Parts: sequence; C-alpha cells; structure tokens
Amino acid sequence: MRLTSKIILGLVLGGIIGLVLNITSQTLFESLNTWLFVPLGQIFLNFINMLVVPIVFFSLTLGTAGLGDPKKLGRIGGKTISFFLVSTAMALIIGISLAFIVQPGAGGDYNTNVEYEPAEAPPIADTLLNIIPTNPIQAMAEGDMLQIIVFSIFVGLGLAVLGDKTSGILKLVDQGNEIMMYLVGLIMKFAPYGTFGLIATAVGTQGLSAIRNMGMYMIVVVLALFIHAIFTYGTAVKVLGKMNPLHFFKTFVPAMTVAFSTSSSSATLPVSMKIAQNNLKVPERISSFVQPLGATINMDGTGIMQGVATVFIAQAYGLDLAVTDIVTVVLTAVLASIGTAGVPGVGLILLAMVLNSVGLPPEGIGLIIGIDRLLDMTRTAVNITGDAACSVVVAQSEKNKS
Ligand code: ASP
Repeated sequence: MRLTSKIILGLVLGGIIGLVLNITSQTLFESLNTWLFVPLGQIFLNFINMLVVPIVFFSLTLGTAGLGDPKKLGRIGGKTISFFLVSTAMALIIGISLAFIVQPGAGGDYNTNVEYEPAEAPPIADTLLNIIPTNPIQAMAEGDMLQIIVFSIFVGLGLAVLGDKTSGILKLVDQGNEIMMYLVGLIMKFAPYGTFGLIATAVGTQGLSAIRNMGMYMIVVVLALFIHAIFTYGTAVKVLGKMNPLHFFKTFVPAMTVAFSTSSSSATLPVSMKIAQNNLKVPERISSFVQPLGATINMDGTGIMQGVATVFIAQAYGLDLAVTDIVTVVLTAVLASIGTAGVPGVGLILLAMVLNSVGLPPEGIGLIIGIDRLLDMTRTAVNITGDAACSVVVAQSEKNKS
C-alpha cells in the first residue's frame, strides 16, 4: 500500500474510533487516549518538530547561497509577499461573504454570557523589529521562525559572496540538508500511526453536542476553506504556476494530512518542503524561502476562520458590522498573521485582535473555542497548501530568469 493511502487510512480510522469512543465510553477513551493515542501522536509530533529548525536553516542557507545575487532574492521576496497578501485578503473576503449569505449566527440561541480571557498578541511593530536576531542560537533554540529565516539568508549570502573561501561550509550545509531530507522520509513512515493517534485524541475529546450546536458555523468555515483552496489555489496553480491543479493537490495530500493531524504549519514544514522540492519540482532555492516564510506569515485558512467568526460573533450578539468594519477586519487579520508562528490554536489569539479592532466583545471567542480544535485541523491544511501553491507560482515565474 502506498504511504499516502496508509496515512489516509490512519486518519479515517482515528476519526471513527475517536468518535465511537466519544459516544459510547468516555472512560475507555480516557485510558486508550493516555496509553495509546497520545503517545503515538506525541512520538510523531516530536520527530517532525525535531527536524523543523535544522531543515529551515540548512535548506534556506543553501538556497540563498545558490541564488548568488541579492537582487534575485529581493525579486523572489517581492513576489512571495505579494502572493501572500493578495491570497489572504481573498480568503477573508470569501469567508466574510459566505458568512453574510448563510448567517450562521442569526436566529440561534447562543449563550453570550460565556467567560473568556483572550491571550495577548504581540504588537506588529515589535515583531517587525525583532526579525533581526540578536542571538541566532537563541532564535534556533526557541524556534523563532522569522529570526531563523533572516539568519539563514545572511549566512547564505556570505557563502555566495565568499565563494571558494567557504566551499567547505557550503558542502557541510549541503550534506546537512541531505541528511534532514532523508530523515523526513524516514519519519514519514511513522505518519500513519501518528496521524491515527492525533486524530483519535482530537475527535474523541470534542464533545458531539458542542459540534451539533455550532454546526452552521463549522459548515460555513469548512465550505469557505474548500472554495478558497479549489478556486484561489487551483486558479493560481493553473494560470500562474502552469501546473495541473489536480496533480498539485494529489501530490500534496501527505503534507495536508500531516497538517490536518498536527494543526501546526511549523511542524508540517519538513514534509511540505520535501514534497514541493521532490515531487512538485519546485527548485530548492525557492521552496526553502517561500515555505518557511509562509508557515509564519501566510495563513489563509486562519484568515477564513477569522472572517467567518467575526461575522458569526456579531450576529450571535445581535450587533451590526458596517462596511468600514469589514475593511478593518480584512486589514487587521492580514497584518495580524505576520509574526505569529503557525502552531495550534494561534488563530484564536489573532481573532481576539481582530474583534478588538472593530469593537466586538472578545469574550465571543468563548462561543467557538469548544470546536476550534477541529477547525484548526482543516484550516492548517489550507494554510500550508497556500504556501506550496505560492512556491509553484514563484518557481514558474522565475523559470526563464537567470
Ligand atoms: N494552527 C494554525 C497553523 O499552524 C494556525 C491557527 O489558525 O491557529 O497554521
């Protein structure tokens, strides 16, 4: 059986078993969860997280060194960031429009007296200043993706400029990268079991009644995610990337399932970079720049959730949103996602910022928090697919450039 089929089987089995246990026996679920599901999931999660920092460092350093010319880096950077900004804005517009059409929060009887203390998001100005690491080792130890990106680009530039003088280090980085890519392949053999454990835990823990109450909201978010993935990415990949969208989505499935089960763009990076480079044939210098950057600053799925959630919360509280509010939501959500790493649950922190920006009660998050883990899985899969689509598009546009 192919690995992709095995991972999907793990995912489906995990979902079914988690659901059955959730309905039938909470005690049995608890013991299986402690002794089987959590360990399986955690082993897999730890293994792929183990590779994130070295893979970003080796791969991006190597990519930048291969680029040779800072001007090229600027050009690729410009295209990448433009793609990210436009696609995230599209995502928000799709989410908000669908929420206005379906009105998931209207008419329902929601308990708006929930208590919820939103976490603070870091101020955007600080994030931008902090992307230059004062201590690169600390940046790596803490997994600060933007800082690691900046450091790797500088080391890569040094290698390119110094040429022969540093050919030993260049070779070392190249071989380091080889090792990491090999390890991703090795660890992925465990993915079906890891996925099984992670999904069983997630589905088994979520109460079915919570899902039932929030059904409309969930449907709107998932529908908007699908529309965005198929239309926005499908069109971008076909028209700008000159690639068959079906081939793109099919090839990328293993990365999507890892994102789905881990709810973390960062943890999915090793797998999504390997697939983009080996199977989608995105040159390493482009993939290694676009994808780590995207895992941090490009979160279209999260944007969709924020758009839908804002409209939903306004409806549930019986408050109106003006056109200016909607523009504010789009701008805040696009900016907020810069600088917050793609890890589970980050979307809720961003949502608090977005709600604040238009004067909606942040306690409204309490309404959706119960089912957020399930949506986090779906939106993370979209988040990393957007980064891969961008890498395909940028690769195509750079094809005939020296
Ligand atoms: N978990 C998401 C990611 O890693 C972020 C979020 O929406 O919470 O991309």
